[in-house]
Amino acid sequence: MSNLKTFWLGLGVVLCGAIATVAVAQQAPPPITMKMLKPDVWAGLGGSGGNSTIIIGKTGVIVVDAKQTEAGAKDLLAEIAKITPKPVTTAIITHSDGDHLNGLVAFPAGVKIIAHENNKKEQQAAISSGARGAPPADRLPNQVTTKTKETMTIDGVKLELYHFAPAHTSGDLVVYLPDQKIVSTGDLVVTNRADDNPNIHFEKNGSTEGWLKNVKEMIGLNADTYVTGHGDLVTKADLQRKLNATTERRNKIAAMVKEGKTLEEIKAALPDAPAPGAAPRGAAAPGGAAAAAPQGGANRGAGAPAAGAAAGRGGPAPTPNLTFVETAYQEITKGAKK
Ligand SMILES: [Zn+2]
Repeated sequence: MSNLKTFWLGLGVVLCGAIATVAVAQQAPPPITMKMLKPDVWAGLGGSGGNSTIIIGKTGVIVVDAKQTEAGAKDLLAEIAKITPKPVTTAIITHSDGDHLNGLVAFPAGVKIIAHENNKKEQQAAISSGARGAPPADRLPNQVTTKTKETMTIDGVKLELYHFAPAHTSGDLVVYLPDQKIVSTGDLVVTNRADDNPNIHFEKNGSTEGWLKNVKEMIGLNADTYVTGHGDLVTKADLQRKLNATTERRNKIAAMVKEGKTLEEIKAALPDAPAPGAAPRGAAAPGGAAAAAPQGGANRGAGAPAAGAAAGRGGPAPTPNLTFVETAYQEITKGAKK
């Protein structure tokens, strides 16, 4: 009897330990990979949320994108402290998704926060709607850009900030360091999705046509390293490959619209390719997402309220409400009716 009791007690301790280990593993953000691109420019890849670019100025540090969570941003700040004793004085935010800016809560109070004016508007809209995963209200951009190109020198660092067109969101900002030939792309470019399936937030007035323009323009910059929004660094050749693949897919959508095909027919003919390294189609989604899908697990439809929930949990980048094909279809059919 007492042996059995000891067995169950022991098993309980082991199980509790295992559960506690799992809980800690879920809370701690994945580690950040720091890569030196130039003596004064680093990429902080991964961790919680999107990638960051770190630029060391004369007296302080400029950070492009701020991770998703307070813990994730603290990790980033700790990594920065290993490479320079200078304080972070400026944050530049590439777009309004929480996985690139909610970590600003861990940044020093009074930090300068630069973003496109539409990014700020989208953040304000998210805050006033009280959406889960809304950005920190006391870390809104305090300097906005409004033009296609804004050139500035911050702390001795030359920067060119571009808003070529709405693409991933209505407030995308591309950060270019002309002296170092480095571009921070935000989620305009990621390596965790198929080349012909860029992530366009239709609900934030993103645009597939605008995406093509942005990538063409980024290829036109005198740069040799592109820090993506998620995944690895890429080169100009990678951008060209993504541009070609996405142009081809969008042209096919336009041709099918012209032939009078329905959206369902086009979606069936041009399905999203799986993300690189992803589980094959039809594999069960973690967290019971398949069971929660409306109408027998049909593809995400218009207005599906899934994006906010995903953004609040420190998971991968928020899923757009519409797929690439759905968004392109909306744009092309709207244009045709003019
Ligand atoms: Zn994003």
